[in-house]
Amino acid sequence: MVIGRSGYKFQNWAESFGSSPELYFQPTCVEEIKEILDLARQRSKRVKVVGGGHSPSDIACTDDYMIRMDKMNRVLKVDKEKKQVTVEGGILLSELNEELEKCGLALINLGAVSEVAAGGVIGTGTHNTGINHGILATQVVSLQLMTASGEILECSESTNPEIFQAAQLHLGCLGVILSVTLQCRSAFHLQDVQYGAKLHEVLNDLDTHLKSSEYFRLYWFPHTEYVGLSLQDPTDKPLASTANWFRDVVLGHYLLEFLLWMSTIISGIVPWINRFYFWVIFGRKTVRIDVSHKVFNFDCKFKQYVQDWAIPIEKTKEALLLLKSWLEKNPHVGAHFPVEVRFARRDDILLSPCFHQDSCYMNIIMYKPYGKDVPHQAYWSEYESIMRRVGGRPHWAKAHTCTRNDFEKMYPEYNKFSNIREKLDPTGMFLNPYLEKVFN
Ligand SMILES: Cc1cc2nc3c(=O)[nH]c(=O)nc-3n(C[C@H](O)[C@H](O)[C@H](O)COP(=O)(O)OP(=O)(O)OC[C@H]3O[C@@H](n4cnc5c(N)ncnc54)[C@H](O)[C@@H]3O)c2cc1C
Repeated sequence: MVIGRSGYKFQNWAESFGSSPELYFQPTCVEEIKEILDLARQRSKRVKVVGGGHSPSDIACTDDYMIRMDKMNRVLKVDKEKKQVTVEGGILLSELNEELEKCGLALINLGAVSEVAAGGVIGTGTHNTGINHGILATQVVSLQLMTASGEILECSESTNPEIFQAAQLHLGCLGVILSVTLQCRSAFHLQDVQYGAKLHEVLNDLDTHLKSSEYFRLYWFPHTEYVGLSLQDPTDKPLASTANWFRDVVLGHYLLEFLLWMSTIISGIVPWINRFYFWVIFGRKTVRIDVSHKVFNFDCKFKQYVQDWAIPIEKTKEALLLLKSWLEKNPHVGAHFPVEVRFARRDDILLSPCFHQDSCYMNIIMYKPYGKDVPHQAYWSEYESIMRRVGGRPHWAKAHTCTRNDFEKMYPEYNKFSNIREKLDPTGMFLNPYLEKVFN
């Protein structure tokens, strides 16, 4: 029999949200998950499943029952011919990367970190970049879902196709993702070429840049005219590192945290910090070649606040220039670097921010040096207002102030998702305060 533990305190990675679940479970098999759901039903408790706990919002919080999936982390099947892998929902992508490498396979695309679980990554619409690549949920071939009643549903484009279209980006509100089959590709080395450029030159020729590399992104340094470009492409060349301990660790981590902390006392130095770091990071062209997941992932430094909306790709220039111009008119606002700009191909997943829309994701960040809170509300609300004006949709894992009214307008298939959710979970077992704002 599965035993729930009391007294557990949940905190997300950024330590920006947490909760105190009444009972905390770490099931090791499907039967134990069913037992937990049965118990929750009998006692009218809500249930929240948690993967890596990396979402920078309260989407994974609950004060009722929490199920952590870290003991359901096995690779169930590898189909080398189809280049597909079936895994349990709790496997961390860092564990999966290693297993795939042994089989000569790799994930097609990855976000900045791999300490996140398969079920969690698809649940919030995690994305990376590449105009011909969709968000990570588009790599899902099929999945297995346990609903509130304890029933297990197989879902794919041919079996329960409508539920599949919803469950690919499930928000944790349709049930427990037991397993996922992911489309992979042959293992590959990735070359990352980085160099600096002028913002207006890049924006004026964005189409060419977008086509210049399979995984293209740019980093704008707020309060400056500068961007760093990153062109990542598969290559047959051998590994080549540009790691520089002084630049990456001493300047890029320790000094940066200290300077950002100083900026909370001496206001007005943020633009200088940004200029200095543009020079440190993009002052000269660098080329690095490594195993794909090591290049996709990067050091996210320290605790932070983030917002990340997807906007129609043709609005990229307008949105960035609006944000730049607002910062110029409000010099008292210090915006940390970088604003990371990534791209993703349209899809037809019901609640995907890229639903029927090639998109640009514009991620803004404010670090918490040594855990200290930094004022960010004015920057946050102006960013959000610009994102709304240009037809954006917020990243589901990250901070936003949207509610049901907004989502109904943003998502043409909102009602279809909502009906599927109500059918699979009529009592709202998988809801929490975050999801109530989305559905109630
Ligand atoms: C340092 C850092 C870097 C990041 N980089 C990126 C990035 O590059 N791109 C990007 O798009 N996002 C990024 N994110 C956000 C991150 O990818 C998402 O928050 C993702 O959902 C985290 O996965 P997780 O396993 O930690 O999910 P959790 O936060 O644990 O859960 C997310 C949601 O999924 C549900 N869930 C989890 N597992 C299951 C399951 N098995 N069954 C049912 N529901 C489940 C939870 O209930 C919750 O609703 C980053 C976050 C951090 C902290």
